[in-house]
Amino acid sequence: MATVKLDSLKKSFGKTEVIHGVDIDIQDGEFIVIVGPSGCGKSTLLRMVAGLETVTSGEVQIDGAVVNEREPMDRDIAMVFQNYALYPHMSVFDNMAYGLKIAGTPKAEIIERVDTAAKLLQLEPYLKRRPRELSGGQRQRVAMGRAIVRKPSVFLFDEPLSNLDAKLRVQMRLEIKQLQRRLGVTSLYVTHDQVEAMTLADRMIVMNGGVADQIGAPLEVYANPATEFVAGFIGSPP
Ligand code: ADP
Ligand code: MG
Repeated sequence: MATVKLDSLKKSFGKTEVIHGVDIDIQDGEFIVIVGPSGCGKSTLLRMVAGLETVTSGEVQIDGAVVNEREPMDRDIAMVFQNYALYPHMSVFDNMAYGLKIAGTPKAEIIERVDTAAKLLQLEPYLKRRPRELSGGQRQRVAMGRAIVRKPSVFLFDEPLSNLDAKLRVQMRLEIKQLQRRLGVTSLYVTHDQVEAMTLADRMIVMNGGVADQIGAPLEVYANPATEFVAGFIGSPP
């Protein structure tokens, strides 16, 4: 479990600033959704928390410690991407175990952690299969499993459901929410889908051109949009 703080966080690529200073205090166990249209800076913001992009100025803090200079592996985070590239030649079990093997986790513990995650995700019958023998939803669960087995303090999701069809997306959305409630892991979740944001978020950050136009609980944002942009974005059909 962990708190996350973003303090005047900015990012430039070359001379172009794309994140103009984002501040938020995220509580232990909170589910934060970063929402906004394509190109507004959601992934860049998340990747700075993950350590996959350098921070131009400001701070990322996890549990009170500034992590700007820390490698992704040393941040106690796990990330689930849109293109959750599973290893095609490995079984589901090995896909989930891979990160732990690299980290030198003892074999017995790897087996225990993978089994626990497989139970949570209803993947027990599929542990010996290859990814190509799974449905889209099952593959997505394997990607989640890979993150869960690491027992991170923070989950980061970047549009993890974008490649799924609409019906499955709604189902997986609910599963992610239930899982997060059960595990109580502080989460940052990126989506361009305002309905997904409204459904999942304890609080949402509505991004507009590299600026957090509004941060608040979904109903608060819905009832009281801070800017015309927020009103238009949240109020428009998906
Ligand atoms: P989103 O995830 O909301 O679609 P991104 O964070 O991917 O937005 O991108 C925000 C802005 O930063 C965009 O204008 C994008 O073109 C730019 N950008 C992202 N990554 C890079 C990069 N590696 N080099 C240059 N510009 C980038
Ligand atoms: Mg993105």
